[in-house]
Amino acid sequence: MSEVTIAFLGATDTVTGSRFLISSPQSKILVDCGLFQGVKSVQRKNWDPFPIEARQIDAVVLTHAHLDHCGYLPLLIKQGFNKEIYGTRYTNDIAKIILRDSARLQMEDAKYAAKKGYSNHKDPQPLYNSDDAEKAIDHLRERPFRERVQIAPDAFVTFYPSGHILGSSFVEIEVAGKLFLFTSDLGRNNHPLLSNPDNPPQRDFDVVVTESTYGDRIHDTTPETFAKELNDAIARGGSILIPAFAVDRTEVILMALKELILEKKIPAIPIYVDSPMALSALNFYREAVQARSPEIRDGVSDRFLNQDPFDAGDLHQMATTEESKAINDLETTSIVISASGMATGGRVVHHLANMLPDPKNTVILVGYQAQGSRGRLLEEGVTELKIHGEIVQVNAHISKVESFSVHADSDELIGWLKQAKKPKQAFVVHGELQGQEHMQQRLSAELGWNAIIPKSAQVFTV
Ligand SMILES: [Zn+2]
Repeated sequence: MSEVTIAFLGATDTVTGSRFLISSPQSKILVDCGLFQGVKSVQRKNWDPFPIEARQIDAVVLTHAHLDHCGYLPLLIKQGFNKEIYGTRYTNDIAKIILRDSARLQMEDAKYAAKKGYSNHKDPQPLYNSDDAEKAIDHLRERPFRERVQIAPDAFVTFYPSGHILGSSFVEIEVAGKLFLFTSDLGRNNHPLLSNPDNPPQRDFDVVVTESTYGDRIHDTTPETFAKELNDAIARGGSILIPAFAVDRTEVILMALKELILEKKIPAIPIYVDSPMALSALNFYREAVQARSPEIRDGVSDRFLNQDPFDAGDLHQMATTEESKAINDLETTSIVISASGMATGGRVVHHLANMLPDPKNTVILVGYQAQGSRGRLLEEGVTELKIHGEIVQVNAHISKVESFSVHADSDELIGWLKQAKKPKQAFVVHGELQGQEHMQQRLSAELGWNAIIPKSAQVFTV
């Protein structure tokens, strides 16, 4: 059989920038095409030219719409990629809003940096603009779950629901007779809105590529922790800021808040959602719930039939910049949910600048915070933070609630992978080194798998 290789072009020594290239003599398939996010040195990698000629790639498989999986697509097209990008229905719908928002944010940041003069560059440029994003969107092609579809002469993909965000999938890919399983970002079995991930297909995989975001962690906080943090914050009399990923996390938080308010575990205070992207994503989730999409957990559609699953009664959806700015002058205790989830950009950064100096306020971190992100620095207890070139004092109370994670933890990942047949080779990606090493050890000790932590740009023959 002719040679098939896999190259690890991102998400190797970091969580972000997922890009894996499978090559056969006949075709080149790129699995995910994400942006690097987090510390400056990682972000800078987005400016590197793509390691192979983009026009040589025959197809892109998109596992889900998170920016670290789809955010590089406009740049791939700028560099000459001119074929199709395959994803499921909601992956494509959500990728559209994510890519448009990403282009807009980068254009705004470049403009802001030019105005304030804090960039090292004379004329700061965005990575890509709205036109580039639209071009990428034109290449998206929708494919159903659980159907094997051809994407190149010798290549096939099957998408399976992975319960991570709406539309998300783990994928089985066959190239020139070699069989690959990519977990991508694997969800958990207790997502309040989404169905559980499918079980792994019972096939003889040559390669399994697994994530390890929480490879060394067990999620141990509960909804009670969230209620307690909220009640403590409300007792302090300030407001509460929750940086949240616009897609999925915002939905899960809103639903949890509705639950807590209905059960009278927290008082019914006003809730503001301040992220245009989150508002668009909310509508897709509402649509999926009302349409009884199979991606939605059993019972959820019945429970929320003809009512908004995300509104406890006092929900404010801030679409415009003026509405967003009005949040600066809130006089009653309120909850503000805003993106981005790691406070690397977006409206939440302005709210942090406004809210962090006041010790009455609380910031609740509800998701994974990448190394070097403002969210991670807050988690680590910094006393000041640089925002838009200025130093902001951190006097607000900072707390962390892990029960909202949409990534399987170490036990959950192993439990899921255990159901697959032992592959010839496993690779551990999408984690920080500690998480990757822990997963590698567990795969080897508990499942007897041969697992490798690939380095950036490393290529393996399958
Ligand atoms: Zn993800």
